[in-house]
Amino acid sequence: MPIDVDIAIVGAGAAGLAAGIFAAEKHPNCQIVLLDGAKTIGSKILVSGGGRCNVTHERVTPADFYAPRRLVKRVLQRFDAQATVRWFESLGVPLKQEATGKLFPLSNKARTVLQALIGRCEALGISLLTKHRVQDIVPAQTGFQIVHATGHLTAQRVILATGGQSLPKSGSDGHAWTITQRLGHTLTATYPALVPLLLDETFFHHNLSGASHEVTLTTRVVGKTIDRRTGSLLWTHKGVSGPVVLDSSRFWIMAHEQGQPVTLSLNVFPGQTFDDVDRWLSQATNQAGRKTVVAHLAERLPARVAKALCHHVSRTPEEQRTASSTEEPMAMLDALLLSQLRRPQRRALTHTLTDLCLPVINTHGWNHAEVTAGGIPLEEINCYSMASRNIPGLYLIGEMLDCDGRIGGFNFQWAWSTGYIAGRHAADSLTTHPL
Ligand SMILES: Cc1cc2nc3c(=O)[nH]c(=O)nc-3n(C[C@H](O)[C@H](O)[C@H](O)COP(=O)(O)OP(=O)(O)OC[C@H]3O[C@@H](n4cnc5c(N)ncnc54)[C@H](O)[C@@H]3O)c2cc1C
Repeated sequence: MPIDVDIAIVGAGAAGLAAGIFAAEKHPNCQIVLLDGAKTIGSKILVSGGGRCNVTHERVTPADFYAPRRLVKRVLQRFDAQATVRWFESLGVPLKQEATGKLFPLSNKARTVLQALIGRCEALGISLLTKHRVQDIVPAQTGFQIVHATGHLTAQRVILATGGQSLPKSGSDGHAWTITQRLGHTLTATYPALVPLLLDETFFHHNLSGASHEVTLTTRVVGKTIDRRTGSLLWTHKGVSGPVVLDSSRFWIMAHEQGQPVTLSLNVFPGQTFDDVDRWLSQATNQAGRKTVVAHLAERLPARVAKALCHHVSRTPEEQRTASSTEEPMAMLDALLLSQLRRPQRRALTHTLTDLCLPVINTHGWNHAEVTAGGIPLEEINCYSMASRNIPGLYLIGEMLDCDGRIGGFNFQWAWSTGYIAGRHAADSLTTHPL
């Protein structure tokens, strides 16, 4: 079979572009082609980080990812966050660190990142072919035949970097997994992750759209706590978003899709227990004057949220159960003075403030998910080279693998690191391990 190119990289997103650059730098004479099904390259990079591209994080550890830690460690050891910073600097894209530890281009523009990557590919003589959606990859004795939208191509090595299913309009729709399955790889069930959540429309979130505050979110599956995290929650017209919600979403959707009873509950006073908050309210009740309950809560919460929570307490089953024993009807709680707050109402309110169950009905789905949970298991890859353990000469990298990171630049770090390892190894193997 006559070989057209040395290395074909399928998918010119973050991982594919990185792999191309590192392969070409390792072996400047090798012929590399990047094939992408999309009309233009890098649309996901452009929308990332709110258009600013959160390239990596100050500190990246295996604990920031959902995948076997020893395998993630192998990958990160080879190309870590500091290496990413140096690499972007060398591409003419200095990064700046924000208070959260996230790193962005100094320009604050994702386009700077994309232009630098494409510019480097061009300078290294890599062919970038858009509108070349790959339909099949067939191993042959000395390489691979790649069947794409306008014909076919042969290559000695293939690096698959086709992403997951998040934001399918960007070109990453998961089709390439059918190719890898034909090649003998398995696929762990996939779920949209880092995705906003939809709440039952009878809940009180509508009027809170735009309000954001710190919370602790707890995910319980069959009554058992499987995740607890603290961060900023953003109320939206349709439900909840913000970093803490996005990070929690994978746990909720996985349990939900597997038919397990799952709840997500909210503590609006992170770090404080039921007793702490009850004591705080109780002390305030004793020295309150004419201050309302809502005004008191609004000292620590956005006023709209304080009011909605008080109003909600009036409508909970707890209220139905205890209303007959209270002097004040619960329905009045959002207008009540602190001095009028009786014990049953105070405890119902405390319960709502520290363990409010959110009526999640679904996620916003793949069109709004930042990443894919699930994919090709890392156990099927040699994480020192990113080579397939099934097919010699095939490499798999980036989001198509079963490894998703939390919010904060970790998913791009995974793309850069796996791209680095596969690119260099594929280029090296052309001379050291001919097929
Ligand atoms: C809105 C949004 C914001 C995000 N923000 C951040 C952020 O700030 N920081 C961060 O770390 N992560 C962020 N992410 C996640 C991050 O963008 C991805 O994890 C990362 O881009 C994955 O890189 P990849 O190269 O593996 O896949 P992709 O970027 O998805 O690239 C895959 C490429 O393969 C092509 N392709 C797919 N199938 C085929 C085929 N059959 N033939 C040919 N080409 C094909 C696609 O067209 C695409 O160009 C964000 C994601 C989204 C959706």
